[in-house]
Amino acid sequence: MLNPDRRRITFQQVELGLSEAETRDEARRCVRCDICKRCGRCMAVCRDKMGLDALQFGYLDIDQPGFSDFRVTAERCILCGACAANCPTGAIVVTDRDGERTLSFCGTILCREKLEICEACCTAVGPARYVDYIRKRTRSVGDAFAGRLLCAECVRRATAASKSGVLPPERTRGW
Ligand code: SF4
Ligand code: SF4
Repeated sequence: MLNPDRRRITFQQVELGLSEAETRDEARRCVRCDICKRCGRCMAVCRDKMGLDALQFGYLDIDQPGFSDFRVTAERCILCGACAANCPTGAIVVTDRDGERTLSFCGTILCREKLEICEACCTAVGPARYVDYIRKRTRSVGDAFAGRLLCAECVRRATAASKSGVLPPERTRGW
């Protein structure tokens, strides 16, 4: 706003608006409500199915809006991709690129972590926190990664090979 002293001696517009730097800062806070339609599926699946409650989008409840806190996502998210898989508009996306997985919401990166690699075939298994989560959740029924860091396909092959006593014909590098 224009300084009151200046307003007394000029017809200059009182509202000056934002500087370029301020405009850029404000634009970074935009949550692109034209992409996210506030259905809440992402929050529900993360909280109720994954048991992590990593998404804090306070604006989803119009009647009782709360706080949005993206830091919670960075702390709790395991980058499983369940929220992205259930988002009907593509507002929330998981991407594997250059050896890391990122979770982004309307273009803003909420969480990122290096991808762990399958010991046998070198395909991406997932971030370490995702691997830990799967290990803990499946402990009661056996080791999900056959005692090593293997992708789902190589675990299947390793299990089949151990039962038949025959090594798989391809992907033999890490066996
Ligand atoms: S990717 Fe992160 S935020 Fe999304 S469901 Fe999985 S843990 Fe929750
Ligand atoms: S990000 Fe997707 S799933 Fe989540 S509230 Fe917005 S539109 Fe719905």
